[in-house]
Amino acid sequence: MKHSGLEVLLDEIRVCSICAPHLADGVRPVLRISPTARLCIAGQAPGLRVHNSGVPYDDRSGDRLREWLGISRALFYDQSRVAIIPMGFCFPGYTEGGADKPPRPECVRQWHDRLFAAAPKFDLVLAIGGYAQHYHLKGRERKSVSDTVRAWREYGPLTIPLPHPSWHNNHWLKQNPWFHSELIPFLRDCVERILLAGS
Ligand code: SF4
Repeated sequence: MKHSGLEVLLDEIRVCSICAPHLADGVRPVLRISPTARLCIAGQAPGLRVHNSGVPYDDRSGDRLREWLGISRALFYDQSRVAIIPMGFCFPGYTEGGADKPPRPECVRQWHDRLFAAAPKFDLVLAIGGYAQHYHLKGRERKSVSDTVRAWREYGPLTIPLPHPSWHNNHWLKQNPWFHSELIPFLRDCVERILLAGS
């Protein structure tokens, strides 16, 4: 059977090794997409755990993200409906201080414009963190992730900026109760309409 443009591109990405000299743990692109996906979760880059398992958001951050979205694990991992496309497809390694390094810049330069051109037209992109917000909001992001998320109403209906669902952000979440009282109900309504309507 003849491959679609998206399938051809995914085959190319799966064997990409552009950043190999910079990746101490090796190359392993982790992304999920299909021609029928309606929701796109655009995060930063896989961590070491995801690098080892190949399963994105299979941790407490993922549990929190699913809770924000109001959907089950089964639906979250239903590739026919949900795409997961980080700004760097491979684990970038750790800084000397032990934090995850930023996504490799080669990835967005090489792949993202082509991938989103070949991807289905998503009903909603969730831009998680500064790198995804810079790319998906096309320069309309604010100076900080916090300010961009606070301005979420300006970016709809196709894009919603979110902070990373990490437990490191507990303090920020406590300091910004509008996130749970205003943004999350809107987000859940959007996700339900997009993923569950007619199913
Ligand atoms: S991070 Fe992206 S560009 Fe770099 S090796 Fe992985 S897939 Fe290729």
